[in-house]
Amino acid sequence: MNIALFGPPGAGKGTQAKELSKKYSIPHISTGDILRANVRDGTELGLKAKQYMDKGELVPDEVLIGLIRNRLTGSDCETGYLLDGYPRTIPQADALTDILKEISKPLDAVINIEVSDDELVKRLSGRRSCACGESYHVMFNPPEKDGICNACGADLYQRDDDKEEVIRQRLAVYNEKTKPLINYYDDAGILVNIDGTGVVDAVFADICKVMNQFK
Ligand code: ADP
Ligand code: ADP
Ligand code: ZN
Repeated sequence: MNIALFGPPGAGKGTQAKELSKKYSIPHISTGDILRANVRDGTELGLKAKQYMDKGELVPDEVLIGLIRNRLTGSDCETGYLLDGYPRTIPQADALTDILKEISKPLDAVINIEVSDDELVKRLSGRRSCACGESYHVMFNPPEKDGICNACGADLYQRDDDKEEVIRQRLAVYNEKTKPLINYYDDAGILVNIDGTGVVDAVFADICKVMNQFK
């Protein structure tokens, strides 16, 4: 099953992808998680990416295209993959099409999770993240123990880019550079829109209905 989860920052891609990856046994490929791991480890890639991430800007396409090519040619992608946060620009989508052609794993569907801007700001400003990739919300999806990850027991933190000014910038960047991909994939005939405003479990059930068509 070859799927991309699409949607603005805060739509719930990471939250849904974690569970979908378990249910369907396909790797969750989050470019944001990969970049943050590089920032934490102080790699050359991380040092370069951080300047953009802190400002709410996109990391340059050539960096992301190299990264995603590497990841998708990994052996764990043989049975499929679940992309989260890639592609975010038209050049990234074009490069993805080429890579997927080379490895004979074209996308089955691009699942677009729709949430209003007001709700996105509430979600992002209350998000608490864990280095393991889990994310929570102080009101909508709190961890069992305050400030502690259910999955791994580590301390939760607030991402630097989840501060109000950077959130506004990320939404603006989404509207300008990423949103055009909705038409791009609609024209390709593989776009599926999902209402992302319900509770986590309701959105999950709707996404599963789509994914089950490709099992
Ligand atoms: P994305 O990966 O698309 O940026 P996340 O999955 O990290 O989004 O979710 C953003 C925030 O919204 C997190 O704090 C998460 O706990 C919360 N959240 C996710 N899905 C829902 C939902 N259906 N209803 C309310 N809050 C949600
Ligand atoms: P969110 O969960 O809020 O959608 P991500 O974790 O996916 O955010 O991404 C965080 C940041 O990492 C982005 O604001 C951007 O700077 C960088 N990033 C992640 N994926 C990409 C991508 N495909 N292209 C460019 N930059 C990216
Ligand atoms: Zn954790």
